[in-house]
Amino acid sequence: METVTEANGVWQECMKIIHGRVNNLSYKTWFEPVVPVSLSNHSLVLKVPSQFFHDWLEEHYSTVVNESVKVVVGENARVEYTISDEDINETEPLFYRPAQPGRPGPQSLPATSQRFSAKPAFESNLNPRYTFDNFIKGDSNQFARAAAYAVANNPAGTSFNPLVVYGGVGLGKTHLIQSIGNYARQTGRAERVLYVSSERFTVDFVDAIQKDRANEFSAFYRRMDILIVDDIQFFAGKEKTQDNFFHTFNALHQSGKQIILSSDRPPKELKGVDDRLVSRFTWGLTVDVQPPDLETRIAILRKKSEDDGIHMPDDVIEYVAANVTSNIRELEGSLISILAKASLNNREISVDLAKEVVRSLAVSRKTAVTVEDIQKIVSDVFDVSEEQVRGKTRKQEIVIARQTAMYLTKELTQLPLKTIGSHFGGRDHSTVIYACQIIAEHLANDDRFREKYDRIKKKIEMIGM
Ligand code: ADP
Ligand code: MG
Repeated sequence: METVTEANGVWQECMKIIHGRVNNLSYKTWFEPVVPVSLSNHSLVLKVPSQFFHDWLEEHYSTVVNESVKVVVGENARVEYTISDEDINETEPLFYRPAQPGRPGPQSLPATSQRFSAKPAFESNLNPRYTFDNFIKGDSNQFARAAAYAVANNPAGTSFNPLVVYGGVGLGKTHLIQSIGNYARQTGRAERVLYVSSERFTVDFVDAIQKDRANEFSAFYRRMDILIVDDIQFFAGKEKTQDNFFHTFNALHQSGKQIILSSDRPPKELKGVDDRLVSRFTWGLTVDVQPPDLETRIAILRKKSEDDGIHMPDDVIEYVAANVTSNIRELEGSLISILAKASLNNREISVDLAKEVVRSLAVSRKTAVTVEDIQKIVSDVFDVSEEQVRGKTRKQEIVIARQTAMYLTKELTQLPLKTIGSHFGGRDHSTVIYACQIIAEHLANDDRFREKYDRIKKKIEMIGM
């Protein structure tokens, strides 16, 4: 614990320096959410909320951060980041962990590609960010929320067992099912709560089989008071895993434990999932979440900006709510992008800015553009070859084409910087960052360049049509 306190103190000092060097909005947006995790061997570990957040900090504020840390800790100080996002890449199977609190703290991983969860110790695997309190109610989710709340208040005590929540991407399924777990634990209604994705369950199961630890695996899952399994559609086609899950399900159900599942479609429409399992899924209650209506979208945007301590003018909120209609993740994404653009370019948060953000979101969604598409179109417009765009040539006109392509890839795909670099002759993430800075400058200062850039972007927009 000592290093945490120390890390806290160090980070507080750094924050003072940073506050003097960036504008207030940037400070609120990009530095207040950062949590110091540990300090050892001159390495300060900072936890950030997402990969996007991490990339953004690295891209725009690495100098400020590094310099402030050097001032506070000393010349040889380093900063490492961990991401509290999702636990996709945890390698240690869940069931190997000690069941009591006090799991060893986060270890630092190599910079940039690290992705480990800094969630609370204990096996629950729940993200404390997901609560009923910050789940906005609306017609689209009212019934699902009420059912979830009932289950949270009385795990295994209602006929909603299992509770299955289904619906499209980004509509709040994970948020809702984790809220049940968080609530039940916090109020003492359940002690042993476990959240896993079905993929995680599968990977751990395969691992257990290989290591001859299948019994341990089964025993672990059957100890839970509440078992939450996310995205069960990924069980499709995995017969052995399904078989194990079938028995786990029965064991839990029979001993009066609560099971909560989510899926991207109603259980009956699951393909490649054994009928007997599907029939179990329909024993309890199945509820859906629908895309949010306009009022709910407005309420969500208000709440999120309030939570971030950011003032979003009403017209901006209404513009975004009216134009980003598909799902809540994209709503959040637009909000972050607006903040990002405003804080970076020192611009006011305005409807114009919102329009820009919504437009590039629309482009990337409509076209599902690939790196190859971008490379091809950029090489056409710049009149160089695609190989040159990907290659090593340092000729000025090729370098600028390559940097433009990198910039567009960053803008229009969700790819991490490292991956982008790998598509351009195996360059590293700092090269991509540098390219993005150069292009941002050209766009701001060079009308001829901007015209070319707009032409490229139009061509990309045409792809999906
Ligand atoms: P899904 O699992 O259905 O793909 P998520 O639960 O991951 O969707 O939700 C996507 C994002 O939207 C999350 O950050 C979540 O917190 C947020 N979100 C979803 N529904 C709501 C809601 N009703 N109120 C507030 N935030 C929400
Ligand atoms: Mg989900």
